[in-house]
Amino acid sequence: MIFQKGLCMNEINVTLPDGSQRPLPAGASIFDLAASIGAGLAKAAIAGKIDGNLVDLNTPLSDGARVEIITEKSPEALEIIRHSTSHLMAQAVKALFPQAKVTIGPAIETGFYYDFDVDHPFTPEDLEKIEDKMRELAKSDLKIERKELSSADAIALFKGMGEDYKVELIEDLGADKVSLYSQGDFVDLCRGPHLPKTSYIKAFKLTSIAGAYWRGDEKRAMLQRVYGTAFGDKKELEAYLARIEEAKKRDHRKLGRELDLFSFNDEVGAGLVIWHPKGAMLRTILEDFERKEHLKRGYDIVQGPQILKTELWQRSGHYENYRENMYFTTVDEQSYGVKPMNCLAHMMIYRSQLRSYRDLPLRYFELGTVHRHERAGVLHGLLRVRGFTQDDAHILCTPDQLDAEIKGVIQFVTEVMGIFGFEFEMELSTRPEKSIGSDDAWELATSALLNALKDSGRPYEINEGDGAFYGPKIDIKLRDALDRRWQCATIQCDFTLPERFDLTYVDADGEKKRPVMVHRVILGAIERFIGVLIEHFAGNFPTWLAPVQATIVTVTDNQIPYAQAAFDKLRAAGIRVQKDFRNEKLGFKIREAQLQKIPYMLVVGDKEVEGGLLAPRFRDGKNLDSMTPEQFVSFIENEVKNYK
Ligand SMILES: [Zn+2]
Ligand SMILES: [Zn+2]
Repeated sequence: MIFQKGLCMNEINVTLPDGSQRPLPAGASIFDLAASIGAGLAKAAIAGKIDGNLVDLNTPLSDGARVEIITEKSPEALEIIRHSTSHLMAQAVKALFPQAKVTIGPAIETGFYYDFDVDHPFTPEDLEKIEDKMRELAKSDLKIERKELSSADAIALFKGMGEDYKVELIEDLGADKVSLYSQGDFVDLCRGPHLPKTSYIKAFKLTSIAGAYWRGDEKRAMLQRVYGTAFGDKKELEAYLARIEEAKKRDHRKLGRELDLFSFNDEVGAGLVIWHPKGAMLRTILEDFERKEHLKRGYDIVQGPQILKTELWQRSGHYENYRENMYFTTVDEQSYGVKPMNCLAHMMIYRSQLRSYRDLPLRYFELGTVHRHERAGVLHGLLRVRGFTQDDAHILCTPDQLDAEIKGVIQFVTEVMGIFGFEFEMELSTRPEKSIGSDDAWELATSALLNALKDSGRPYEINEGDGAFYGPKIDIKLRDALDRRWQCATIQCDFTLPERFDLTYVDADGEKKRPVMVHRVILGAIERFIGVLIEHFAGNFPTWLAPVQATIVTVTDNQIPYAQAAFDKLRAAGIRVQKDFRNEKLGFKIREAQLQKIPYMLVVGDKEVEGGLLAPRFRDGKNLDSMTPEQFVSFIENEVKNYK
């Protein structure tokens, strides 16, 4: 189509995002608009927006419409590409397995999936066949067409095809009309929008197969879910697949086994971590670090019991709201709850004395081990467990002090995450509809959190109405080496517990007042944080964190007496050192130490014995100058001091 301005009888005007107007002949589509602007844009366009709503590229425009052209580079593009790829996959599956019934196939964060009801269990070989078929269908450049039908007609159509699930979906929608998308002989119930042709699908990969119940209901049919991913171009797809591959290599469950850090055992119980010597050492290093950092910032270390009387959990509201996740035990007719949180004992400490405003703020810190009954299905290595230790603290302060306290916590998080090399993002969740506490209290706490966020100079988001019913909170998500987000630190204001436990202080005016309570964790659960650390560092812990910092490796048996003496010196100086004096080839011993990701290998041959030296070699193969054991001790001490 060629348009010449002024020659058309029926002309319309549309508005582009920059506010400019553009005349077009009546009946022109978004594609025509793109083509009228330039051939490059026509080629890149995949869909559009009319008055803010996403639509297909061939949607006709009406006079006065506000139009935006969606190209492969637009933020909205990925979802359209992925959803269209899921249709393409369903078409391929139907072509290869005509008896398969289609259900739903949405785009998701990592790609897309489609659920099929089919007796034949899909195998990895099937995925390859399906992919081949998809490529063939994409090449045949089928038009993807939208059609609107009355629900009755659509039901009749899908009934005729034996697609019972689609019939059920349309019946549940209860709409007069529905939209269908077809490509070749494949038709699907869908809101859209979609790519205009199958040839627009250029970069995809089917990734896995899983079971899923129809509508998540275990009483309904068991379906087969095929997952895949798709991108605008091959380069992006390849980068994504490489990242997945890297993530698999870094999987903390795999590295945890290979580096002998921890295990789980069915005889012990699901979700309960067993720390082996090196894992327990890693934990100890982190815990020592935490104690030191908290003491530096004016926290007091406290410790409560593992079990507390059930009556106390009733008073705190945990029994009412959290009972399903708690473990209970009864001894001598007294029922106890195993603590799922550390708050209660901390409040008992606060209440053990009359408190004056001069005593505040109080900051109680506990490496508190808690137990929470998580459903078996959600347990995942160290990331989701049933028993874990939080770096938990409760700050009790006057309302005036809240601002400074919150700022202090964010400063704390910033310093600590800097040491580990994590970037992070913050989100503020504000008052939900159902909440307790006065307007004043919410206002005070929310503005304290907000001020601290602004003060931090970092970007943050606000989740309106997403706070807990008992107070607003800040969630902190750190970003690891693979650019994945992990929720770790939280700062939570609480109006219920000081109330329920009648916590008070005597203010300057002699009146009894309620302190503000803040629950906060910095690393969160140590277990989870270690899981994240393992994947972040790919097991290559920096010297200060490495459970084993160095291993002494002899070249032959001749050096054993000298090497043993060096080992004793290093260990006595506090270096986490191990030895490998086996009668094996040097290369073999070094490779093994590298697999264990030990930072330094200290090679001892005749030359080192003669010179009273050690020859350190970094795990990446780099050699350092030879040094005496004493020099090596100060070298390591220096790295540890600088969190290297
Ligand atoms: Zn669809
Ligand atoms: Zn708490």
